[in-house]
Amino acid sequence: MAKDLHHFINGAKIAGTSGNFLDVFDPNTGEVQARTPLATEDETRAAIDAAEAAFPGWSQVNPQRRARVMFEFKRLVEANMDELAHMLSSEHGKVIADAKGDIQRGIEVIEFACGIPHLQKGEFTEGAGPGIDMYSMRQPLGVCAGITPFNFPAMIPMWMFGVAIACGNTFVCKPSEKDPSVPLRLAELMMEAGAPSGVLNVVNGSKPAVDTLLTDPRVEAISFVGASATAEYIYATGAAHGKRVQAMGGAKNHAIILPDADLDGVVNDLIGAGYGSAGERCMAISVAVPVGEDTANRLVDKLIPRVEALKVGTSTDPDADYGPVVTAEHREKIKSYIDMGVKEGAELLVDGRDFTLQGYENGFFMGGSLFDKVTPDMQSYQEEIFGPVLQIARAKTPEEALALPSNHQYGNGVAIFTEDGNAARNFASKVNVGMVGINVPIPVPLAYHTFGGWKRSAFGDTNQHGPEGVKFWTKIKTVTARWSRGNEGASFVIPTMK
Ligand code: NAD
Repeated sequence: MAKDLHHFINGAKIAGTSGNFLDVFDPNTGEVQARTPLATEDETRAAIDAAEAAFPGWSQVNPQRRARVMFEFKRLVEANMDELAHMLSSEHGKVIADAKGDIQRGIEVIEFACGIPHLQKGEFTEGAGPGIDMYSMRQPLGVCAGITPFNFPAMIPMWMFGVAIACGNTFVCKPSEKDPSVPLRLAELMMEAGAPSGVLNVVNGSKPAVDTLLTDPRVEAISFVGASATAEYIYATGAAHGKRVQAMGGAKNHAIILPDADLDGVVNDLIGAGYGSAGERCMAISVAVPVGEDTANRLVDKLIPRVEALKVGTSTDPDADYGPVVTAEHREKIKSYIDMGVKEGAELLVDGRDFTLQGYENGFFMGGSLFDKVTPDMQSYQEEIFGPVLQIARAKTPEEALALPSNHQYGNGVAIFTEDGNAARNFASKVNVGMVGINVPIPVPLAYHTFGGWKRSAFGDTNQHGPEGVKFWTKIKTVTARWSRGNEGASFVIPTMK
């Protein structure tokens, strides 16, 4: 029997009351293992009520004590790593080692948030004018919300609530309905770490829950990660309701391979970054761009046997390169993009569509697919596939290669492989994409830097975590103070420093 999941509001597990549920699958077997309750507007408002009630107390807790909750939360997540990784892997389908990476990347943001006493300090100018001091402070916003995707159910909620809560805000997380168990468990651990009830709430649901968060006047800020069409809607609707919004969207990440690149190393990087997590990463490499026919031919010769040899297995198989994709519906979408690529005239060198895993015939498995001779006019190139599919788009010159990611609608990540420092430097400077790797296939910035793409990969102007995150989750107040006054009388001229 599939178990019914719950919400987590005001420090307690709350059963859903709407009577509406969405199935959570075990992607290895195709069976329904749980049901996610879909919150009504009232249930979502109950989570906002709890966060609103917790805000006055939590925002007054001094920063060192808030940091100590973060230190304890980090310790608890580490202590529960195995349980969390199995939970994550069983709903998402990524292999255990990769699930641990997902959690570890979240922990690293919590480590960053442990520095909040230092990060949230304001600035001070003594003697900004005669007898005048000027100082600024970064204050928390109030009730904040995060709406998260299925593909990083540990890291992305922690990107958001880790920094937001450390800054003194209270939080409502609306995770993906496909794999919500890890965010629910993280909220329990946050309470165990010492955060008061209501500081972190999880409300499960779909559009009605999201729309309540977007329109309730008590929610001050919304952070979103997911598909671009959703991101655009969240950005526009949240902003129209007076909230600050950051909304990260989809991606199509290119890897440029110059003729001088170490091709064996490149092939290892492309295989890992293209097919790891079944390609369900917003920083997956989905297009390889070899420069010159000779580079392209050599690359294809090396890639084909490696794609054919990919080991697809259950998410608990320690030898598997990657596991199943998240749902049967998502697998059909990936297959339809492969069908489309074939129809559009791309050369399908390795076809993973018909793969089945013996003993797990109902699981959502896919073999790796490899396309060559993909061109920018193809719809299968223009859109995100989000599966174990690598497309090769050949370029004649470095300039043509630079133009491909630069002109693409998405601008999340890009990588260049070369031994030529000058070429790499020039590329990094010119490319119209937010995160760049130089001989690094997945250039996800570390927690103390900041994550965010460009163009349709991100709506809004502030990135996730790092100093940008602290900026997003706080508002700045600037005070001008004078304690001694002369006898100047009234002044009708704007004060200046002339
Ligand atoms: P999704 O947009 O379908 O869902 C994301 C969240 O939005 C979920 O919580 C979902 O319930 C909610 N949602 C979906 N449709 C909605 C609607 N019409 N109205 C209101 N809320 C809605 O995304 P997904 O399939 O869960 O995640 C995969 C996508 O996320 C990919 O496009 C991937 O590239 C992207 N992604 C981007 C980044 C990044 O940082 N740029 C990181 C991870 C994933």
